[in-house]
Amino acid sequence: VKEHGRNSVRQFIPEMGVTAISRLNMEGALRRALERHELTLHYQPKIELATGTIVGAEALVRWHHPQIGLIHPIEFIPLAEETGLILPLGEWVLAEACRQQVSWKKSGMADLKIAINMSPRQFRQEDLSDRVAAIFAETGADPSHVTLELTESMVMQDVNSTLVALRALKKLGVSISLDDFGTGYSSLSYLRRFPIDELKIDKSFINDIHENPDDAAIASAIIAMALSLSLSVVAEGVEKKEQAELLRKMGCSQVQGYYFGRPMDAAGFAARYREHINE
Ligand code: C2E
Ligand code: CA
Ligand code: CA
Ligand code: CA
Repeated sequence: VKEHGRNSVRQFIPEMGVTAISRLNMEGALRRALERHELTLHYQPKIELATGTIVGAEALVRWHHPQIGLIHPIEFIPLAEETGLILPLGEWVLAEACRQQVSWKKSGMADLKIAINMSPRQFRQEDLSDRVAAIFAETGADPSHVTLELTESMVMQDVNSTLVALRALKKLGVSISLDDFGTGYSSLSYLRRFPIDELKIDKSFINDIHENPDDAAIASAIIAMALSLSLSVVAEGVEKKEQAELLRKMGCSQVQGYYFGRPMDAAGFAARYREHINE
């Protein structure tokens, strides 16, 4: 996001895109977006490799700006994190994803698990598990069908308080996934000590897996390690059939990526799911 100074009064012009919004405007616009319900969630299918079935979806936030159109999270999540707006934003995402899980339950899609991304600030809230519990109570979502995605770098910061927070969340009945795995520095001893359920191999390791033996070796090693720790392992960013084939041979549990489905709005996802169970 470009800076235009504190007194910037630049107007939104659609052709300029989001980079033209000054930081100050952006903060105000994001604040209003929350009040005016301009945020929405898209859902990307998670596929079980052994059976090829859709077993869940990751909720990914988007901002429908009235002038600019669809804005992707890379453009506003960092600012939200910096300003603290991520707390109300993250709370809305949690509640909305929970409402979606309840709606799936009512429409014959009860098996689907929903995966929700958490930000560092959100994860470090003292009363996080109480807040999450309140959202479950309010929405009627089934915690056993909710996965919280935390990044590897997030949980490796201050491992003692991480352990306390993870235990409190696990008590609610949710699953915990370690996102962007391989990009941070995990101590293997913590992987064992943390009550986590899933590792998500970062897409940077998956991109060239079918052409680069080093990347294939890394992915294969992560998969073997995850399985030996009885963790489920998900590869993200799978775009090609060859990548999926290779991951299946390596014993990877689940995949996510454009090859299997892009993130879609709720209606698009439901249509895709129905098509898939009738295949
Ligand atoms: P992430 O959690 O690693 O999410 C995966 C990103 O990879 C998503 O981008 C998804 O659309 C994209 N992706 C999925 N399959 C493929 C593929 O085959 N190829 C490629 N090149 N990309 C693929 P998206 O939706 O733009 O989200 C970007 C990041 O923004 C997420 O990365 C996550 O860190 C953050 N984010 C998204 N939604 C939320 C949210 O609700 N809360 C928080 N705190 N962060 C969020
Ligand atoms: Ca994620
Ligand atoms: Ca990821
Ligand atoms: Ca990522």
